[in-house]
Order: sequence, then C-alpha cells, then structure tokens
Amino acid sequence: MPTAERELDATGLLVLPGCVDMHTHLASTPTFTPLDDFFHGTRAAIAGGVTTVLSMVYQEDGSLRRGIERGLRDAERSHADFSFHAVVTDPGADAIAELPSLVRDGHAGLKVFMVTKRFLERTADYLALYAAAARLGIVVAVHAEDHLLIERSTAALHLAGRTGVAYFPASRPVEAEVVAVRAAIGHAARTGVAMYLVHLSSAAALEELRRAKAARTARMYGEMRPLYLYLTREKFAQDDGALFVGQPPLREQADVYAAWRATADGTIDAIGTDHVPYTRARKLAPGLSFDKIPPGVSNLETMLPMLYSEGVRKGRITIERLVDVLATTPARIAGLAAKGEIAVGKDADVVLFDPERTRTVRAGELHSACDYDPYEGWSVTGWPKIVLLRGAVAYDGEIRATPGTGRFVPRSPLT
Ligand SMILES: [Zn+2]
Repeated sequence: MPTAERELDATGLLVLPGCVDMHTHLASTPTFTPLDDFFHGTRAAIAGGVTTVLSMVYQEDGSLRRGIERGLRDAERSHADFSFHAVVTDPGADAIAELPSLVRDGHAGLKVFMVTKRFLERTADYLALYAAAARLGIVVAVHAEDHLLIERSTAALHLAGRTGVAYFPASRPVEAEVVAVRAAIGHAARTGVAMYLVHLSSAAALEELRRAKAARTARMYGEMRPLYLYLTREKFAQDDGALFVGQPPLREQADVYAAWRATADGTIDAIGTDHVPYTRARKLAPGLSFDKIPPGVSNLETMLPMLYSEGVRKGRITIERLVDVLATTPARIAGLAAKGEIAVGKDADVVLFDPERTRTVRAGELHSACDYDPYEGWSVTGWPKIVLLRGAVAYDGEIRATPGTGRFVPRSPLT
C-alpha cells in the first residue's frame, strides 16, 4: 500500500464498511417533492454511516428513462453515492423495450407495487416485464400487499365510522401481505426473475419467504424495515399514532420476535429504511382518516446505531450479521461491485464506529429535515464517529461532504 496522506486513529472503534440502503424515496416526481430530498436525506445518511443510497424514481409519461433522468438531476446535490430503482407504473411494451439500454447505463433495478389496483388489472403485462427483467439480470423490488383485501377492509372500517389511526393496522391485515407474498413467489418462480421483497412486516410473510428460499424454486430476497424490529401496533393507539404510519403497518410483539429471528437466520437479506418522512403537522393533520395519513418515516441516520444498540449489544444478532444486512448483501443484490465491503479494489467507504457512545435520539440533533423521529427519546449506544466516502472524510461529527460529493454508482445485472 502507498503511504497515506493522513492517518486516523481507530483505537477502541469498530471499522465497518459504509452501509448501503437499498430503499429510500429521496427523488421527486412530477407531483411529489420529498421533505428529505437528496440534499437533506443524504446528510442524514452520511451522519448515520450510510454511504450509498438507492432511491425510487418513477416512470414518467410512460418513460422509465425520464424518471431516472429526474432522479439524476435531483441527486446532483447528494452527499452520498447513489443509484436507483425505476418504479414501473405502466408495464407495457414500451417499458420492456427500454430495459436493455437502461441496463447498459447502470440501471439494472425495477420496482413494482403489487399493492395497486393497476397491478391487478395488468398482471399479465407485469409478468411479461418480469420475464424480460429475468433475461437481462434486472432485480425487481416488489411491495407485496394485496389490493383487494386492503380495499375491502378499508371500506368496511369507513362504513362503521372507524376512521381513526387506531384502525390503520386492521385496514392492512397480515393476510393482505401473505396473499401477495405467495403470489409474488409464484410470479418469480414462473418468470425466473430475481425478486427483492421490500419491507416484510409479519411473521407469516417471513415464513412464506423462508419456505420459498428453502425450496429454491424462485430467486427470492427479503428486506426488513427497521421499524418492525422495534415497535408494535400499540403505537397506533396513542394520540400521536399517525406519526408511525407506514406501509405495511406495525404488527404484534410476536411479529417483532419473528423479524429478529429472520434477520438473524438469513431469511432477511438486507435492511432498508424506506426513508420518506413527513412533518408532524402533515402526519397529525386534523380529520385525516387512517388511509389518508401520508405513509413513511425518517430512518437513515438511526438505522445503523439502532441495529447495533438493540441488535448486537443485546445479543439478538452478531456484528457480522449487522455488516451483512446493512452493507455486504444489499451491495451484492443491487449489483454495486465496489460497495459493501472493506477490501482491496473496493471503494474506501468506511465507518469508524464508536460502540460505547450513548446518545438519546432527538430529532433536533439529527440531520433529517423532519421535525420528529420515530425513536424520539430512545437511548442508543453505538454511533458513527468518522465516516469516509471513497477515502475522504464525509462526516466527523460535522458533515464534511458537500452537495455533489455523491456520485452515481452503476448497477450491474445480477447473474
Ligand atoms: Zn418505499
């Protein structure tokens, strides 16, 4: 190795690879500007040890590329390295025809919302898309919840006048997730596509994934959303329950245990934040029925510290598993060959992590633009001290990266 310009003392610190978050919503759409855009969201990311973020970008006027181009413009102010999943809202022949050139340009990832009515109406087109994706090595991320069961449950609750946030979990029952996960596994098996099931929330859905992986009939990967490891549906009984609304909902304590077990035993491959916060005022706006509360919370800055504090320190997972689910495996699934490991030839994305530092989570001290945090008041032990992005200090208690420091990282097809 050549001599370094500068030496950093890591005595007493853990030296971890920078985290790769496969699931964020930092890019805009023609009708949506996120509170945490690439500027704000990647400040939170960097301070939390997340050096690479993947954002959803939405197909625009039928064109996947147009959505990606919007994402690239938004990301010009990124502090972290970034890449994309192209969300397919119109799975016609035009979208399929775009795929080879997208793969060539490093966009080997799609996202499909099974939860939409559109998916029901156009399942055949989506299956054709999956088959094309399979041929090209494109990974398809899937939000698996069943539209009909949610629609039916929601309508019944509305009819009974039960529109408060306390009824949010009942509107998106576990069965809706299980039915969709089963179907998704079948779709993956019959088309050969590599499928990444995002934010699995229930013990029953995790069991479906576990069984499918054991059977090896489909190429399945599973993602855990951090919230499901720490919180239960009891949050929705609180006056400020709307602050915790995301999709799928928080579940029971038994599901929390199952989430830890699946994270520990490899059923879950990656943890992704699904970072998309809204202000307290937006979440708690008076008169919002449970289905109109904007879904999503802030998570980028706390993902690594919380998993260390609650997972590693409390003996639920090993430090090796933490590195696996936060860095190595998401980088591999996303086709980011230079990321996710500390090794010769890889980018020097490194977190010098202080395993003994205890902080109380307070939104005011975090870097998200959001004015609350779902873990407000939690005492968390283990925080990044210094974060390097491609060998340069990006965070050392202050954000040192500047807008535009982050670069696009092309995604290779998964072979
Ligand atoms: Zn999402």
